[in-house]
Amino acid sequence: MPDAPKPRLMISALEHYAYCPRQCALIHVEQSYEENVYTLRGNRDHRRADEPETEIRDDVRVERALPLYSDEWGLTGRADVVEFDDGTPYPVEYKHGTTRRHEPGRIQLCAQALCLEEMTGRSVPAGALYHTKSHRRQEVAFGEQLRADTRAVIDAVRTQLRKQTVPPPVNDDRCPPCSLQTVCMPDAVDTPARQRRETDRLFTAEE
Ligand code: SF4
Repeated sequence: MPDAPKPRLMISALEHYAYCPRQCALIHVEQSYEENVYTLRGNRDHRRADEPETEIRDDVRVERALPLYSDEWGLTGRADVVEFDDGTPYPVEYKHGTTRRHEPGRIQLCAQALCLEEMTGRSVPAGALYHTKSHRRQEVAFGEQLRADTRAVIDAVRTQLRKQTVPPPVNDDRCPPCSLQTVCMPDAVDTPARQRRETDRLFTAEE
């Protein structure tokens, strides 16, 4: 009997996990979501890429808001932009900010490449992160290491969703820009011991 199809993971969940496993769990296990200035800027920067559209630019077909899937990896999502030069897909993901190295974005982009390879039967050797503040592209090569890292994140997210686990906060420099700070409370619950202490205190009757 053929294997049952894998439940589909959203490609965005991989980016959330690569940024912070707790952020992924709060959004995809506990269904929490909050906006902050960074998410609102990101939404604004994505607005054009969110409208499905096809255009031909210098003999290159450009698709915006292209739906993506992979049966093999159990993924679903949407690419901001995919350029088809001679039929080879080249995904471009919009990111707010400057050209600093964006590891979660590289994982997200590589997952898009896995989908495009399955959808088109062509190999996808590279794509790019487009930084909306600097208007610059940063090319990302989908080498063996990045592909292995992406597969590891896919497995980790699948396990997290199956077990419905919410890991402790990272409580580091990823937290200040994170929109989930108020629901996450990284300072209050950054270790299991502290989590227990705070929970006990919550239920201690005062004299
Ligand atoms: S506030 Fe920090 S620990 Fe909490 S979800 Fe965001 S990045 Fe992760």
